[in-house]
Amino acid sequence: MTPFASEIAQAIDGIRADVARLHAELVRYGLVVWTGGNVSGRIRLSEDGSGDLFVIKPSGIGYDDLAPENLILCDLDGAVIPGSVGSDRAPSSDTAAHAYVYRNMPEVGGVVHTHSDYAVAWAARGEEIPCVITAMADEFGGPIPVGPFAVIGDDSIGRGIVQTLRGHRSRAVLMQNHGPFTIGADAADAVKAAVMVEDAARTVHLAREAGPLIPIPQEAIDRLYDRYQHVYGQSTDARR
Ligand SMILES: [Zn+2]
Repeated sequence: MTPFASEIAQAIDGIRADVARLHAELVRYGLVVWTGGNVSGRIRLSEDGSGDLFVIKPSGIGYDDLAPENLILCDLDGAVIPGSVGSDRAPSSDTAAHAYVYRNMPEVGGVVHTHSDYAVAWAARGEEIPCVITAMADEFGGPIPVGPFAVIGDDSIGRGIVQTLRGHRSRAVLMQNHGPFTIGADAADAVKAAVMVEDAARTVHLAREAGPLIPIPQEAIDRLYDRYQHVYGQSTDARR
């Protein structure tokens, strides 16, 4: 059935297994309800990334049914690869946004979207999360930015994600009135960013409820970020 050479088929199977397993992390960390949220992972097949593929969650499928063979294989225009495993189902309604990110950010190997509570609360106010805890400086190198208001139907969500995150240290963007999208060097890295952005959103929210926030000086943020990304051995910055 599969039209792919065995090496490519193997790469696809590996990413399918990763992405299926990683969806369970969204549930484990309480980032999703019902069938909401999605993880995708890029299959690197070409030098410049333009001929790559990605796998993504099918539309409207429960998390208990997310076996590797239920994931959908797409090209970077978001079109389902005909005849591929799982191609009888429709891909996630966020597929166009994921595809746009992969097309325009060849360094990105994974994309995650959730409606996690605290991150959405910041997005609903259109307010960036200020960098007031060292864990944020480590992980995101500064504040978590807000992206434009955009609705499903064309490339506008993907465009908003790319415009906001390109050249930014943060691997997370809060799309206004919507929620977080995260990117990473691979799908696991993007899932980690989704977990960490919700943790930061919750902690900073709680802190501000109790009193004024104390900013971290930019120079200290830079040092923390540099140490964590380069020295600490957590080299996960997808845009370097
Ligand atoms: Zn959404």
